Amino acid sequence: MNAQQETDAFILLADISGYTSFLRQNTLTLRHASYIISELLGAVIKRAEAPLSVNKLEGDAALFVAPVRTSTAAAVESIRGSAFGFFSAFSRRRAELVASNTCPCEACSSIGRLELKVIGHFGRAVRFKLKRFDEYAGIDVILVHRLLKNNVKEKRYFMATEAAWRQLKPQQELAFLAHVEDCDGVGQVPVVVLTEGWENLSEDISFQSQGLRLKKIADFLVKHLMLLPFGGVFMQRGARKGTVRPDSFT
Ligand SMILES: [Zn+2]
Repeated sequence: MNAQQETDAFILLADISGYTSFLRQNTLTLRHASYIISELLGAVIKRAEAPLSVNKLEGDAALFVAPVRTSTAAAVESIRGSAFGFFSAFSRRRAELVASNTCPCEACSSIGRLELKVIGHFGRAVRFKLKRFDEYAGIDVILVHRLLKNNVKEKRYFMATEAAWRQLKPQQELAFLAHVEDCDGVGQVPVVVLTEGWENLSEDISFQSQGLRLKKIADFLVKHLMLLPFGGVFMQRGARKGTVRPDSFT
């Protein structure tokens, strides 16, 4: 029996919408869709700063957890910076993928339509070891996932529960909407939704077009190597080692 430890935690779920529409496509399109999603999620994950770190990949989503004994101002600021920074990191990588794209398939020509939503909550989580990985469980972890199914019409937004927003709310004036979500199996959950404004609070999202020709060559090679029988293996090994990426050719 593994030791379990209950802790206060910020729990964030970053989810890329638009992915499921690719599931009906052919094999090539599916492979390209997976590549695009992994690149975009990779950019978001790279943006997470301690004490927040990625805990689990869940298809087109990534779960981030920051266990905190006491939420100090510095920790909260860092978590807020990561949450808002996710959108800038996503937008920048998406712009790069669109600009360097050389493939006309459904997935590649729809990159610009992919969007990011982030759900944030502050609550309790039970931490335990499963093999060598930290797993988090509990009603507050479930809540974050349930909140993905909500009444927000926009595709790009940051939704924070009241418990999270109380701590993450920045000093700067930000336009947000507050409402109550009826969350399946959990009940009424007050939330705050931001659909814009994080760019002002995080780094510049401008896209650098330097080396675009090389990026296009790399994009072509990466996407078409995946067609070859050994291509998938090459991609997987490269992705694991972080070496075979379009931007590594520049
Ligand atoms: Zn494609």
